[in-house]
Order: sequence, then C-alpha cells, then structure tokens
Amino acid sequence: MTLRLGAALTALATVGALTTATSTSAYATAPSTPTAATARATAARPAVVEKMVIGHSVRHRPILAYHLGQQGPGIPTVVIVSTMHGNERQIQQIPKALRDGRRIRGVDLWVVPVMNPDGLAADTRQDARGVDLNRNFPTHWVHTTGHYGSGPRAASEPETRAMMSFLLKVRPDRLISFHQPLHGVDLDSRRPSFSRKVSRALHLPVSHVKCGGVCGGTMTQWFEAHLPGSAITVEYGAHPASHTLRVQAPKALLRLFGGHR
Ligand SMILES: [Zn+2]
Repeated sequence: MTLRLGAALTALATVGALTTATSTSAYATAPSTPTAATARATAARPAVVEKMVIGHSVRHRPILAYHLGQQGPGIPTVVIVSTMHGNERQIQQIPKALRDGRRIRGVDLWVVPVMNPDGLAADTRQDARGVDLNRNFPTHWVHTTGHYGSGPRAASEPETRAMMSFLLKVRPDRLISFHQPLHGVDLDSRRPSFSRKVSRALHLPVSHVKCGGVCGGTMTQWFEAHLPGSAITVEYGAHPASHTLRVQAPKALLRLFGGHR
C-alpha cells in the first residue's frame, strides 16, 4: 500500500512538473514544483491535474484554480469562474462538482469556484474594499461608487489582477462566468451561437443580462477585448435546485465541450 501510494505521488508529481513547465511560469505565487499538500489534494480528487494559487484576495485569502481534463490537438480549453460576487454562493457548486467527480477527458478545463473569497466569507457582493469586481476590469472602466462601485481605478483589486494574469496565461477558447440570480444566458455579440448552445444545454433563456449601474469594466468585456476566445455570463436564479447545480449542469457542460468522465 505504501509503495502504491508512493508511486501515485511520484506520478502526480511528474504530471504537475510538466504542467508547471508549460502553464504556470507566469505566476509568482505558484509553486515551481508540486508540494506534498498539492499531491495529497489531487490524489483525493482524481479529476484534478493541478491545483494552483492564482493570487490572493485583499484579506490574503488564496484564489484557487483547478486544472481538470486533458490537453491535446483539437481539444478546447475552457475556463469556468464563479462566485465573483461573494453573496452568490450556491453557484460555486457547478465548478466544485466538476472538480470533485471522476477524471475528465476530451476537454481542457479550468475551474475557479471562488473568485471573491473575502466576499464569500462576509456574504457581500463586493470584495473586502467594497469594490464590485465585475466593474473593476480595465475595459470600458468608469469610476462609480455604491453597490456597483468600480474601485478607485481600473484593476485596482488583487482579485481582478489575479484573474487577468490567469486568463492571459491560459488563453481559453471559452470563458463562462457563472452568477446569480438573473436567470439567463447573456447574448454573446461575437458568437451568438455559443450563447444559444449554452442556453439549450443549461435550460436557461438567452437574454441580455441586465447590468446593475454602469455596464463597464466587466470580466467578459475585458476578456473579449484582449483575447480571441469568447466569454459569456450565465445567471442562475436565486435558489436553483441542488440537483441542477451538482448533476445536471456539470454533465451538460462537459457534453457541450466534448468532454466526458
Ligand atoms: Zn454576480
């Protein structure tokens, strides 16, 4: 048993080292070699190829990304982000269900279940400085205050900067930003067919998701301005069924991107 565990850890360390060499060199906070803790975490979660700290929140909480699936020719790279608004806590069940299940093949998938760990801890939409992270990205950024406050300047928040450097490094073909509670899939003006596919897969209507306050500085706006992939916002309702988030949506997303367990 000890030998088998040792072999498994060595294999994981090898996978981690290869992945680190190709995808994590830009992260100052990422370990250059997998730690024993990372190896244990991935051993307990067979779908996880790599666990990465992509940055830290205002209150120094780590922001974690999990690399799932497999890379290869013709295999799409997809990033799923949730709980950018800390009071949208149920939605993190979708990326966590993808992370915690069996091994994934056919899609190169990254999930960031909690982009705003301080907001999650405090049950606030904003980060610990009262900034709405989805108004803080440096595309169409305008200075606003209040509930949808955009921060003192573009990309002022460490959570925003962590996500930017992560996305610039991974360069996904598709980015899905999960939110609550508006119940709809935002229409992607660049690739409306993508919105319709996601809408059908998740049984949510396509709609122009209403932006509170000024609709500038969002993550999807920034992504589409700087990277060739497409990004959409998907909103579930205020109280989605647990089965929907833990079973139906993860399965449908895998199928949509050609993946399987
Ligand atoms: Zn939100």
